[in-house]
Amino acid sequence: MTQINIASSAPITPEISILIPAFNEAQGILTFLERLFAMMNSVCLNFEIWVIDDGSSDATWGQLSAAQAHYPQLHGVRFTRNFGKEAAILAGLRHAQGKAVIVMDADGQHPVEILPDMINLWRNGKAQIVAGQKASRVIESFKSRVNSFVFNKLMRALTGLDLSNASDFKLLDRHVVEVMLAFPEKVRFFRGMTVWTGFNTHFISFDVSPRLAGNSHWSNAQLMQLAVTAITSFSAKPLGLVLRLGFLGMIAAFLLLIQAIYSWFAGIAISGWTSLTVVVLFFGSANLMAIGILGAYLAQLFNEIKARPEFLVREQF
Ligand code: UDP
Ligand code: MG
Repeated sequence: MTQINIASSAPITPEISILIPAFNEAQGILTFLERLFAMMNSVCLNFEIWVIDDGSSDATWGQLSAAQAHYPQLHGVRFTRNFGKEAAILAGLRHAQGKAVIVMDADGQHPVEILPDMINLWRNGKAQIVAGQKASRVIESFKSRVNSFVFNKLMRALTGLDLSNASDFKLLDRHVVEVMLAFPEKVRFFRGMTVWTGFNTHFISFDVSPRLAGNSHWSNAQLMQLAVTAITSFSAKPLGLVLRLGFLGMIAAFLLLIQAIYSWFAGIAISGWTSLTVVVLFFGSANLMAIGILGAYLAQLFNEIKARPEFLVREQF
């Protein structure tokens, strides 16, 4: 006689985990969750949602805890303070159990409509990573488009990684998630790390929707910090550039020395004042820049060596 053991309490592994970093998203999070659940219920029988509240100071956590009653697949993690989106993504990756994990924003800018295509590409075995590519940047301000352009060009030149139009909206196969969790580094740049792994990636383009509510949370200083982290954690080329600049400086100084000796013998020694000023100013600022670049790497090492936890959790459900 076949016996079906209904009492077996081994948890069923979800097929898909959705991971959502959220910082001060109280105004739009419920609308977003409603859309997300409607969509997921139509494409997947067995999924879970993890929202990581990155130390919101508004009612985000309250909304999530209340929503739990309506959505049994909803889980929440609340940080003690704002640790940043990268930390929130990492926390989500550690909690998610799914055979594939999808990372998406809480503000509705990553459209739920492309989830079925993303999931099917992975189900059909076409890709281990399905990466959302921003099709349009029209709703972004001129300033943020210029920032992205400069950042992507720099990244391309210094690290060889092409991140133009890349986003954090991605599906990762369980294998990719395990690999990324095994990285020992503390300072993380999710967008670059997934590209760096080199796993078979399928791109899927999407139009960035307007935010459901509120404003983007990135300040100029945070964006600058993200760019420095991204570059210093992926490339040591700027250090090589400093060395080359120093070398060029030595050649220039040598040529000027010859000119100075010549002027002295020719009795026109006072000439060259302007060029001297320019040279002093140029190398003065080049020195400062070089120290700054060294400082950025030192800060990176400092943070890695301290090896503090990437985030602290206040509560979760
Ligand atoms: N976010 C976060 N911690 C932060 C800043 C942002 O978890 O310190 C979340 C935010 O709630 C959203 C996503 O990261 O779900 C993207 O943030 P945002 O919309 O501000 O950035 P943008 O869309 O301009 O890249
Ligand atoms: Mg956004």
